[in-house]
Amino acid sequence: MLQGKGDAEFTQVNGMLKRRDLIIIVLLLAVALGFYLISQYMGSRQVSQVVARINGEVVFRESLLKNGAYDIPQADGNENRIRVENGVVWMESANCPDALCIHQGKMRSMAKSIVCLPHNLVITLEADSGEQLPPEDGIDVILY
Ligand SMILES: [Zn+2]
Repeated sequence: MLQGKGDAEFTQVNGMLKRRDLIIIVLLLAVALGFYLISQYMGSRQVSQVVARINGEVVFRESLLKNGAYDIPQADGNENRIRVENGVVWMESANCPDALCIHQGKMRSMAKSIVCLPHNLVITLEADSGEQLPPEDGIDVILY
C-alpha cells in the first residue's frame, strides 16, 4: 500500500500524524474530564436517600438533601430520632439501653450504616431507585 509514496508525501503524512496525536491527547483529556464529571454527578445522585429499616422492613425514607429531625417510633415504645443535615445523617437520640447507635457518629457514605441493635433498626444511605448499592470499595472497582 505504501509503494510509490515519495519523501514529500511521507513528511506530510508525518505532520498529519503529529496533528492526530494532539487530537488524540485532547480527546483523551476530554474523555477523562467527562468520566470525572459523570462520577461526580453519579456520586451526588447515588447517595440521595436516608432509609430506615426495622427488622428489614423499610419504615422511613427521606431525601438526604432535606435537613430535619425524624422520629422513628415503634409500637413497643422504642424510639429513635435521626437527624439529617447538609448531606450527613446521624442518630440524635434513642431510648435504647446501650445508646451505641448515637455513638456511631455521622454518616455520609454508603459504606457505612448506623445500627441500633436493641431496636432492630438500621439506617442506610441509598440511591433514588431504592436499590441498595455496594459499599464504596465496590464502586472504586467499577470506576477504575
Ligand atoms: Zn440504639
